[in-house]
Amino acid sequence: MREGIHPKYDEAVVRCACGETFATGSVKKEIKVEICSKCHPFFTGKQKLIDTGGRVDKFRKRFNLKSEEE
Ligand SMILES: [Zn+2]
Repeated sequence: MREGIHPKYDEAVVRCACGETFATGSVKKEIKVEICSKCHPFFTGKQKLIDTGGRVDKFRKRFNLKSEEE
C-alpha cells in the first residue's frame, strides 16, 4: 500500500442554490452549483419565459398544431 500517489476520490456533496443536495464522486468534498436537475426549467418542464399571454396557444391554433396535453 503506497499512499499519497492518487488524489483521494471520495463521495462529494453537491449543493444547489435551490437547496437540493445530492451525492456524486469527486476529489472535492463539496461542490456548489447554481442550478440542478431539480430546479432547471429544462428538467422540470416549466416554461416560464416562453408561454406568456397564450402566445404559444395562438401559434398552435394558427398552424393547427396539437398541444402536448392532447
Ligand atoms: Zn437546484
